[in-house]
Amino acid sequence: MEFLKYRSVPGAAVSIGLTRRCPLHCRHCSTESLMDSEEYPARMFLRFAETFTVESHPKFVLMSGGEALLRPALVRDIAERARAKGSYTHVLSGLFFARKPRIPRSVRAAIDAVDHFSASLDCFHEEEVPREAVFRVLHELIDDGKDVSLQLTGLGPDDPYLADITGAVRREFDDQVPMLVIPLASVGRAREWFARHPGTAQPVTAEPCALASWPVVGFNGQVTGCGNQDVMDGKVPLPAHLYLGHIARDDWATIKQRTLESPMMRAVRTFGPRYLADGLGGGCGSAGYCDTCYTLSKAPDIRPGVRELVGKPSTVAVEELVNRALVDAGPMSFARSFGVPGYADLVALGHTPQEDLACAG
Ligand code: SF4
Repeated sequence: MEFLKYRSVPGAAVSIGLTRRCPLHCRHCSTESLMDSEEYPARMFLRFAETFTVESHPKFVLMSGGEALLRPALVRDIAERARAKGSYTHVLSGLFFARKPRIPRSVRAAIDAVDHFSASLDCFHEEEVPREAVFRVLHELIDDGKDVSLQLTGLGPDDPYLADITGAVRREFDDQVPMLVIPLASVGRAREWFARHPGTAQPVTAEPCALASWPVVGFNGQVTGCGNQDVMDGKVPLPAHLYLGHIARDDWATIKQRTLESPMMRAVRTFGPRYLADGLGGGCGSAGYCDTCYTLSKAPDIRPGVRELVGKPSTVAVEELVNRALVDAGPMSFARSFGVPGYADLVALGHTPQEDLACAG
């Protein structure tokens, strides 16, 4: 609930992919992870975490992979540095270690160091790690006072797996474990599934991109304006407006400033890519939402048009209204828009308003 509340606040968080490696072989893996996938030195990530200051730090630091807990010492070291400056930390794991009877000591130390622990679970994960093992680990952590949640992926609102697993989690944890239920995306190994189930063309409307708010650090240290996996993997040429820097060179304050000030990112957050392409570039044809975004920096008319657009006082006013509307809409709205709508209310399980984190903005 806390993370989703700030999901559309530009620069409120940074998401860091610590390694592409993972010992599981899930058939839908968005990062196409293997045990010999790319992994960069811990020092590069620590250097970036050490640029956080008390005055300038992300409110939330989200760590994932691949499997982030293959690097437990790095998770712990980043969490300790981030907390010392005032950030809250979160790690997402596929729970590869749940296949063993005990949580390895180094992994447990990493989990203890973060503020929130989240586990991925879906029908593909269950082929690798049985749900009983996941539940056992979550019980152990909850009993020791850890805040935990689940990130569940399904094929859509009618997927019987989602009805089954959400019911099982609610019973097992007495409605105390929140769940974010998201649809399978057409990236990584899941692309093949989508090729067999094509969607339909969408009309052009102003549709702000709430995912363009939190910078994402890729496995190689490159920072992009969103977590689009195709962009981060270089499967599409990196659009100039999505490149925010590199953690080997740039500090958090610089990355945040670029996030807040980039004219194209401001316009994408306020109007969405298809609306910009249609209004400033003469149409976006039948291209999809992110596919249109990829082309924005290349179209000769759009860049100057966007610069002029975001310089107008009326656009600044609209931008503020859109930002406020997205925040005011609340976590449930985000869970409905980007998750599977019928399961959106599950993000609130176990949450009481007085638990809201204090926010300095
Ligand atoms: S529209 Fe652009 S900024 Fe938003 S998620 Fe897609 S690629 Fe990223």
